[in-house]
Amino acid sequence: MSRSAQHTSPLHVLVVGAGMGGLSAALAFQRQGHRVTVVERVQEIRPIGAAISLWPNGVKVMHRLGLGETIERLSGEMTRMRYLTHHGQTLTDFSLTPLFEDVGQRACPIARAALQQSLFDAVGAEHIQLGRRCLDYTQDDDGITAHFEDGGSLHGDLLVVADGTHSRLRSKLTGHAVERQYVGYVNWNVRVPADDDLAPLHNWDQYVGDAKRVSLMPMGRGGNDQDTQEFYCFFDVPLPAGTTNEPQRYRDELREHFTGWAEPVQAVIERFDPERMARLEIHDIPPLDTLIAPRVALLGDAAHGMAPDLGQGGCQAMEDAWVLAETMQRALDEHADTSTAIATALTHYDAARVERVGEIVSRARKRAAMIHGLDPEQTHAWYDELAHEDGDAILAGLKKTVVGGPLG
Ligand code: FAD
Repeated sequence: MSRSAQHTSPLHVLVVGAGMGGLSAALAFQRQGHRVTVVERVQEIRPIGAAISLWPNGVKVMHRLGLGETIERLSGEMTRMRYLTHHGQTLTDFSLTPLFEDVGQRACPIARAALQQSLFDAVGAEHIQLGRRCLDYTQDDDGITAHFEDGGSLHGDLLVVADGTHSRLRSKLTGHAVERQYVGYVNWNVRVPADDDLAPLHNWDQYVGDAKRVSLMPMGRGGNDQDTQEFYCFFDVPLPAGTTNEPQRYRDELREHFTGWAEPVQAVIERFDPERMARLEIHDIPPLDTLIAPRVALLGDAAHGMAPDLGQGGCQAMEDAWVLAETMQRALDEHADTSTAIATALTHYDAARVERVGEIVSRARKRAAMIHGLDPEQTHAWYDELAHEDGDAILAGLKKTVVGGPLG
């Protein structure tokens, strides 16, 4: 238990949403000795999407929260990165190890289900109320009350709103409606058994061409019953909004979009199980000016839904969780009065996160535009750059994102 929680009464922290953001926040507060209640809309949490790459900034937070070893054990070993043309010619191929050594942490590609379960178990089922949809909150002198669809309510000291990109509570906090914006492409993602006829087993391979992209990333054994190694594969295609989403059409759709692409791409298309595939139109939200209201903190995709082109949405949710709990600990050490401490911590959280996440949302959107041909000339210039890239510029970009985080 931390110093702050020994010297003042523990807080009761309410967390709305048991995704990776809400559960990371719950864990961070629990580790400081606070009482946490997580409320989650669905009865059974089934993450949408195959896998996720946790970059070193996210993994560092997981280590501080006591889950780092579990995450490393369940994740894949990804040591090289390669870009190829759609015909399979290598554009650039380099080791990721110098980056991981430089920042003191490797990346961890992991099945979403494995990550979710690890976080859920660490928080403890007894602290998570499933099947409770939060509709609203009200604040008073004593604290904050969350109100639920089932007619019930819960009173606490602090409310963490981590209800995801479609957040219902976000507009109440910001005082205006925040519309999700279509980024301009569709992403299909799935896991397939790893095989070296698809890619070297420790490579992250990306095929690019015609403003489309196919990615194969080695992930761990934590995501399937057979305990076999898998690749996390995704396909990106620029398309107008509102195309139909029918699992029985996925294979045909991808065959059409990727006709003539390299053999490993064709092999993945023939091997995947459409029942295990997710198809998403990619959206983000505009950067927000504030992530706080009295006694309330917005966190994760609710605060900064972003294009996945930097692989940072989940990592940023983890950073949010760490910063929020740390600022709270410091404020409780400094202020005897709980209300003052919470107000101070929220102000510091806002100051620490608004610029960081806003910059990453904007950068992810620009990168999505470049990869997916919003301006075709820019996309072609990027392909040319990749052909002359020795890895240094890409590693520098990845490093900048990692070391800009709260744990350096
Ligand atoms: P969510 O995971 O959406 O969780 C929100 C939870 O709140 C849900 O369980 C929901 O049921 C619950 N909820 C909603 N409303 C209510 C309510 N009213 N009451 C109670 N509960 C409610 N990030 C990375 O770091 N690396 C990657 O490689 C990466 N790849 C990605 C690839 C794709 C294709 C996409 C789409 C995203 C990717 N991301 C990645 C981003 C990452 O998935 C998200 O940032 C992350 O899942 C956000 O977690 P969250 O907890 O904020 O939201």
